[in-house]
Amino acid sequence: MVRTQLIPRGIRDERVLDAMRKVPRHLFVDESMQYRAYDDMALSIGEGQTISQPYMVAIMTELLELKGNEKILEIGTGSGYQAAILAELAKEVYSVERIAPLASRAEEKLHAIGYQNVHVKIDDGTLGWVEEAPFDRIIITAGAPKVPDPLTEQLAEDGILLAPVGDRFSQQLVKMIKREGMISEEFHTLCVFVPLIGKHGWEGGEEH
Ligand code: SAM
Repeated sequence: MVRTQLIPRGIRDERVLDAMRKVPRHLFVDESMQYRAYDDMALSIGEGQTISQPYMVAIMTELLELKGNEKILEIGTGSGYQAAILAELAKEVYSVERIAPLASRAEEKLHAIGYQNVHVKIDDGTLGWVEEAPFDRIIITAGAPKVPDPLTEQLAEDGILLAPVGDRFSQQLVKMIKREGMISEEFHTLCVFVPLIGKHGWEGGEEH
């Protein structure tokens, strides 16, 4: 996966490549899907949701520019795989998932594998995690119509926020950097994520 998908597409951060080599991605998908776990694609994790394509996890992680000391907020725990990669590269990871069975499964797996620095909460992540703010890094792993205001407010000074922003079917990765209270934006790759549903996201999902 690292040799055939990530390095040829330009992932260069050795710490990110090492984390992608180390974290057992197959443990974050259903047993029946494990033979596809390292393929170049997103996979179903149930509840209509997905574990993101390895390249997308790698590029998002690289864009966060992690040094090892950061407190990170992730919105969209899903399988827990991205949280595990972040846990390898930063100090603490706070991850919010709105679908309870996914959150519980991910938390169980992360703890069983040995990640003590990941904290999972069931909630609408568009509200952030007020009690733990501010965060040095914030990563949204679902497609948003716009970056939720509570999240930019909970971003620390010199912090980086990364989000796929667009319509329900396609988005572009937006990287925001907060300096002296001002936000600047960079635009990166096009992408396709399941929708971010919540008060400051898309409407819907009353079934959960
Ligand atoms: N990061 C995940 C992983 O490594 O498996 C993949 C995330 S999946 C593409 C998007 C996730 O965002 C889904 O599990 C979905 O339920 C969740 N989600 C959508 N809206 C949310 C919200 N407002 N708050 C928290 N989670 C949300």
